[in-house]
Amino acid sequence: MNILENFLSADEEQEIVSAIHMAEKNTSGEIRVHIEKNTDEPIDVRAKHVFHALKMDNTKLENGVLIYIAIENKKFGIYGDKGIHKIVTHSFWDNTRDVMQEYFEAGAFKTGIIEGIKNASEALKKHFPWDVNDRDELSNEISKGKL
Ligand code: CA
Ligand code: CA
Repeated sequence: MNILENFLSADEEQEIVSAIHMAEKNTSGEIRVHIEKNTDEPIDVRAKHVFHALKMDNTKLENGVLIYIAIENKKFGIYGDKGIHKIVTHSFWDNTRDVMQEYFEAGAFKTGIIEGIKNASEALKKHFPWDVNDRDELSNEISKGKL
């Protein structure tokens, strides 16, 4: 059994991609989800490495947000780029993390990820509103595996 492929069903993945698509209609911020089997690094360190490996720092306003999940470690991290850190407080991250944690503990991974995306986009849109010149700078597809 492939733990990475079975973590979310194809339908669930599609729902998550749609949630990112919808979230990015409200903000110029770019949200991605990466799923990995496991990691030896502390979760926040790994999230930062994955963020850079996915070239998520390649946005005009430095407003990419990564939701990173290590399945076997039963851990997840959220990493946001410099542009966001200049503006939002720690409570933004804590709040998003808490929302996701609650669903994850109940085994509702898809819902947890989607609620995390919604939560992040609500905060992002205040500081990084969508505008007509906005482009989809980073893919909305879920990425997986070692990078
Ligand atoms: Ca965008
Ligand atoms: Ca995007």
